[in-house]
Amino acid sequence: MATRKKTAKNAAKKAASKKAPKYVYTWGAGKADGHGKMKELLGGKGANLAEMTLIGLPVPSGFTITTEVCTYYYDHKRTYPKVLRSQMEAGVANMEKIMGYKFGDAEGFPLLLAVRSGARDSMPGMMDTVLNLGLNDATVESLAKATDNERFAWDCYRRFIQMYGDVVLGVQKTPDEDHEPFEHVIESYKAKTYGEDIVDSELTAEDNKALVAAFKKLVLDRTGQGFPDCPWEQLEGAAGAVFSSWMNDRAIVYRRKYGIPAAWGTAVNVQAMVFGNTGSNSGSGVAFTRNPANGENELYGEFLVNAQGEDVVAGVRTPDAVAGMAEALPKAFKDLMKVRKILEKHFKDVQDVEFTIQDGKLYMLQTRNGKRTAAAALKFAADMVKEKLIDWQTAVLRNPADQLDQLLAPVFDVAEVKKATIIAKGLPAGPGAASGKIYLNADRAEAAANKGEKVLLVRVETSPEDLRGMIAAEGILTARGGVSSHAALVARQMGKVCVCGASGVDVDYENKTVKAGGQVFKEGDFLSIDGTAGTVYGGALATEPSEIITGLIHGKKASQKTEKYQNFVQLMEWCAAATKMGVRTNADTPEQVKNAVAFGAEGIGLTRTEHMFFEGDRIDAMRQMILAENEIDRKKALKKLLPHQRKDFFGIFKALDGKPATIRLLDPPLHEFLPHTKEQQMDLARTIGVKVETIMQRVHDLHEFNPMLGHRGCRLAISYPEIAEMQAQAIFEAAAQCVKKGIPVEPEVMVPLVGYARELELQVNIIHRVAEEVMAAKDVKFKYLVGTMIEVPRGAVTADEIAEHAQFFSFGTNDLTQTALGVSRDDMGSFLNSYTENDIYPKNPFASLDTTGVGQLMEIAVEKGRSVRNGIKLGICGEHGGDPDSVTFCHKLGLNYVSCSPYRVPVARLAAAQAAINDGSAPKAARKAKKKSTRKATKKAKK
Ligand code: ADP
Ligand code: MG
Ligand code: MG
Repeated sequence: MATRKKTAKNAAKKAASKKAPKYVYTWGAGKADGHGKMKELLGGKGANLAEMTLIGLPVPSGFTITTEVCTYYYDHKRTYPKVLRSQMEAGVANMEKIMGYKFGDAEGFPLLLAVRSGARDSMPGMMDTVLNLGLNDATVESLAKATDNERFAWDCYRRFIQMYGDVVLGVQKTPDEDHEPFEHVIESYKAKTYGEDIVDSELTAEDNKALVAAFKKLVLDRTGQGFPDCPWEQLEGAAGAVFSSWMNDRAIVYRRKYGIPAAWGTAVNVQAMVFGNTGSNSGSGVAFTRNPANGENELYGEFLVNAQGEDVVAGVRTPDAVAGMAEALPKAFKDLMKVRKILEKHFKDVQDVEFTIQDGKLYMLQTRNGKRTAAAALKFAADMVKEKLIDWQTAVLRNPADQLDQLLAPVFDVAEVKKATIIAKGLPAGPGAASGKIYLNADRAEAAANKGEKVLLVRVETSPEDLRGMIAAEGILTARGGVSSHAALVARQMGKVCVCGASGVDVDYENKTVKAGGQVFKEGDFLSIDGTAGTVYGGALATEPSEIITGLIHGKKASQKTEKYQNFVQLMEWCAAATKMGVRTNADTPEQVKNAVAFGAEGIGLTRTEHMFFEGDRIDAMRQMILAENEIDRKKALKKLLPHQRKDFFGIFKALDGKPATIRLLDPPLHEFLPHTKEQQMDLARTIGVKVETIMQRVHDLHEFNPMLGHRGCRLAISYPEIAEMQAQAIFEAAAQCVKKGIPVEPEVMVPLVGYARELELQVNIIHRVAEEVMAAKDVKFKYLVGTMIEVPRGAVTADEIAEHAQFFSFGTNDLTQTALGVSRDDMGSFLNSYTENDIYPKNPFASLDTTGVGQLMEIAVEKGRSVRNGIKLGICGEHGGDPDSVTFCHKLGLNYVSCSPYRVPVARLAAAQAAINDGSAPKAARKAKKKSTRKATKKAKK
């Protein structure tokens, strides 16, 4: 029986596998094979075209060739599956049926096609589109006849040859040409015929005919082949070009920047054309359902009458604000406003749409979730909760954690702005303030930034080739292009400050100068741009903190009233409700503690004590200690340091007001405290009264070949236990002082660089002994913990033995990464680039935790630590504590807290909340969780 069943199953399987895989998904007339959730297979554009069709929006019919074909293409030496052609033929037939036109029809209205790329995530401008496909010398005539619009038909044909010639046939600018070859032909034609630069839509049918002939000749000259007439040949060529554009340089650079795997591939969308260029009752535009720069609830975008879509974004003509459409095409505008509502209600997020109006009728050509600045993301999320479109958890997820610090970024100093004169004005495309040295080309901008200069990239307009320079720049300034130009799009996504379309800025590539406001700036001169106001200033302007900083940290009432501040505070409250994992801070001074607490830090995860040995004349006492020949002299010197450290600890405890503080005992190697030049050594000899030879000898003795792995960390206090003794005494005496003054304290003494349980045991014994002595001497009691950093692999894998002596672990992932990878963080500069480019490091392992390697050591340590001491307190204090991906990993490990620098605290809180919401561990109601925390607070207060 069982076997028979199996064979039947196998037969069915076989039959199924014989059926050719489905490579083509059609949509149109309210029906679709796919839907919005199929982005992996259909790409973002294709999936959403299907989805919009299904919810009844006016979308021209078409089909998607799946991403699987792209993968197949690259796996099979750039060839296609055999069945693809017949499935495409069926797809075209379906479109013909719906539209009532025939592809390649030389008699009636010919069906024309748009061939469009579409990866899973949108990659703006990275890959290519061909419009008006299906035109040739015969169909252009039938189109002219059917529409009774010769100018329009030849306008389409000219555009088609240009796009196809560029994208598919590769007729492009050579390195020694200044102009795109097709543009060059147009410009010289206009100059010859009209003696001036008229806009393309003013070209007559005759002009376009002449240009078509000139374009065809250009193609023949450049490629040695005639322009393909056969519509099917055109279609296959265009689809192939989209698939190959997946591997072009700029797409590769873009994917690397955004971590998109090459294996995803792109889909190809083939869609019936609708025409925005038939006359003044037509047009084309792009819009966001809300303002993606500042978050305002208003339609935001651009529009051109009598134009095809490419015109809007290409910067050929400067488009009008989309609001102007209300006057030019009132009916279509009303429809667009309706669509805006429907889209937001359906997708429950702000949409970025592309549309075309043909003879007064609106067609939707694309929708996707709109890219936005951090400020807009914050407002969108807060508003949509109020509008009941989304819940608070979704609102938390809508704020990208790695962008949050944009909100904390400085703005220009108000006083300076008042004094400064505006030399040009443009569109505010990427908010924030940026000053920098100007560079007019991406390579030079990148090179200057690599040398550590602050750079502004200034271009007439940007194109995808400029991406590297844009990444390197603090800000981007363009003379041409609107708020949906390439520069604006990319700037918003990367959180760069951007002013675009500043027409008063005259960019002279040849002389490498920028003229504005009657002044001339050379490359390397400073300019300042305000991407919130859209203004440009000469020179470098000073900046001032954002209103969130002034509101939270400086307690300025005016800032606290702003909507942005209040939305931010609300977001942080939601974050607190979402997760139990706490966020602490790495702070060494009361000032830093104060800032971090204002951002919501729940304590200190790491206080480094080494700076306490440096300030003022302490360093001399420290040096005396190091130069001492015996224990008695060492103790004498340490005694001088004790009151200083005690005072420092007291200040920190006071600022924390009862929040826990993890204090790390001395960590760096001793030679760092000694002077290294002859003169400094002579000086020191005089001040502390030792022979300079003694100092030189000691410096020599302390020299290490590899200080990172040398006499440092707990190894110091193993050799010189009196150092640990003094530090413990300072900590506990400060704690005793606090208790006497009624300030609650919770010190956590942390021993660094432990690899052996015995190392920790020896130190712990000292610390406990000193604690008891202090409590007895001062006659007070306080609670404290003693624990260790886990930062060498041996410590991680013997964490069970270590946990016998440790009340807490804190993962020191900076050193743990260095020691686990065997890589010195300070020496990796020479190979980091080649390691990322060759996909060895997915990201810099010191910025984002190597979860597979270092993460595994952490997992082992967590498990072994808990096996011995259930409920052992666990945290992380490496730089990774402020990196969203690493925070997510820590959440999965179940750490009690992450610790990061004060200004990263909000980022870490947001990342922690998102991790909890994503894995379903966040509570449903934000309010309940909030009540709980207030209850706890009142309980504490009652005590
Ligand atoms: P990108 O991904 O670079 O935005 P698209 O595939 O969206 O490229 O195409 C760019 C523009 O071409 C669109 O914004 C739209 O204006 C125009 N376009 C695309 N498809 C059509 C179509 N079916 N009819 C008319 N115009 C189209
Ligand atoms: Mg598009
Ligand atoms: Mg360390």
